[in-house]
Amino acid sequence: MSSKTPTTSRRDVTTAARRLGASVSVRRDRDNLVNEVLIDAPAGHVFASSGVHQLVCAGSDGESLDALYADALERLAMGTTPCDDDACDVCRPAQSCPEPGCTVKVARYNFPDGVLRCAKHAKAAARRVQQ
Ligand SMILES: [Zn+2]
Ligand SMILES: [Zn+2]
Repeated sequence: MSSKTPTTSRRDVTTAARRLGASVSVRRDRDNLVNEVLIDAPAGHVFASSGVHQLVCAGSDGESLDALYADALERLAMGTTPCDDDACDVCRPAQSCPEPGCTVKVARYNFPDGVLRCAKHAKAAARRVQQ
């Protein structure tokens, strides 16, 4: 019988994530060298601990999954908050550039005027604004 301290298990992380509506996936390297615990926040939400839609707890050099689960649990503890990024690539996925005849998919706002355009048309719009 070993008497090591209780470790955080995948079940602990899954339970905490489920409470937030988040989902957990684990990528496990065959040689146990690079393990990753990935947690996706529910749609429209980010993790309060870091403001990202996906938590990535990555270990290397054989760092145990238990340590990653403990890290993940700690970061989950702060919960989630609605994403308030108007230009978020995750919440507002790619749409077509609105310039006539242009079919380029754009995922970011290309200023100057806040309209979502492809890089080429954003440059053209910037020239229009400067004139
Ligand atoms: Zn977002
Ligand atoms: Zn365009």
